[in-house]
Amino acid sequence: SLKERFENIFAGLRGKGKLSEEDINLALREVRRALLEADVNYKVVKDVVEAIRARATGQQVLESITPSQLIFTIVYEELIKIMGEAPAPLVISPKPPTVYMMVGLQGSGKTTTTVKIARRMSKGHKPLVVACDLRRPAAVDQLRVLAEKANIPFFGPEAGETDPVAVARRSRAYAESHLCDMILLDTAGRLQMDDELMRELESMKEATAPTEILLVVDSMTGQEAVNVAGTFHERLGLTGVVLTKLDGDARGGPSLAVRASTGVPIKLAGCGEKTEDLEVFDARRMAQRIIGMGDMEGLLEKVQSATSDADIERMTESLKKNRFTLEDMLMQLQQIKKLGPLEKVLEMLPIPGASKALKNADIDPKRMKQTEAIILSMTLKERRNPEIIKGSRRKRIAQGSGTSVQMVNQVLAQYEQMKGMMKTFGKMSGGKGGFKMPP
Ligand code: GDP
Ligand code: MG
Repeated sequence: SLKERFENIFAGLRGKGKLSEEDINLALREVRRALLEADVNYKVVKDVVEAIRARATGQQVLESITPSQLIFTIVYEELIKIMGEAPAPLVISPKPPTVYMMVGLQGSGKTTTTVKIARRMSKGHKPLVVACDLRRPAAVDQLRVLAEKANIPFFGPEAGETDPVAVARRSRAYAESHLCDMILLDTAGRLQMDDELMRELESMKEATAPTEILLVVDSMTGQEAVNVAGTFHERLGLTGVVLTKLDGDARGGPSLAVRASTGVPIKLAGCGEKTEDLEVFDARRMAQRIIGMGDMEGLLEKVQSATSDADIERMTESLKKNRFTLEDMLMQLQQIKKLGPLEKVLEMLPIPGASKALKNADIDPKRMKQTEAIILSMTLKERRNPEIIKGSRRKRIAQGSGTSVQMVNQVLAQYEQMKGMMKTFGKMSGGKGGFKMPP
């Protein structure tokens, strides 16, 4: 996968002291191949690679951060640029009703997303959802049931009615009489692109003059997503994309590829089957996912729900100052206990390879307890200044915690390893590379 590829690229660069031109070329070749395989337009790939090269050979940055951090940071930023830095909000028509037409292949998530958007919009608006998928009776019922559950007004065909454009047209009067200022048209899909469907959608567009035409794309689609988006965009002029099923084994390919090939912004992300599972698309988060940096914000959210604000503040401060002490490590251990399944937490850690490193070190609950005991046996001064823990102190700590000097040594080694990773992250999040800590 793209994510694995990037992880390999960064693993190859890690441990290098200085970046030679050869290193840069090698890394760029890999980046290039990875992006091409993710169906990113070759022209876009060329631009990205050139941007990376120009920045990677800059003397100033080379001195301030390590090579792998440098390439990592630049790739991250360039990916964000491709996907669109700022969120693209849904447009509300100055002249109601606002009409959204949902299009996409069968099974992409149109019906679900229609209700999701209606639900989200019902905070300041009164949306009406309209069943324009008349191919299968079940499709109309599906929308009706979802809408009912979410308390959203519904409009559908009369018994035996077969023309979706007529339904869409009539929905306007219905919306007006029911004081709905938004109309969401759920349309039919096909398993494949199909000229008949396109013509149907074109006439619907003509009849309803939609404010937005939103393409719903299953994020698992992969390569095909580019063709799908291209064709829909050509025929209908898309205004936005909704990427669905990002809660699954989501890859970033489609978001990069679709945005780069069509230029249409990705506006929303579906992240579950329930009608509340809809988020504003976040390019940063997606870039982190693609390059295997882990779901940083997801991790922060999780940590936040498990710890007090004071703890968070302290940890954030430590990260900013690149000071990671044994106290922080103790705090993290205690948090991890509260967080639940360890593997999940490890997956979300923001440092590539971190989950592997930590897995080797400390996944065993018994060892976690011992580590905790060891740190608790240290004085406050020792926890904050681990470098003072020499031979005699190690012995005392081992005795105090009921462990051995060897184990104390292991904990200190593990601490050094974590400190190294935190440093990397701290620099990326606040340093010259341009990373920003999410607010
Ligand atoms: P349509 O054929 O395009 O109207 O697609 P549907 O809305 O009927 O969705 C197809 C399937 O995908 C259904 O089982 C939905 O529950 C599921 N689905 C849609 N969006 C999401 C999502 O964001 N996450 C997950 N896990 N499932 C989704
Ligand atoms: Mg449907």
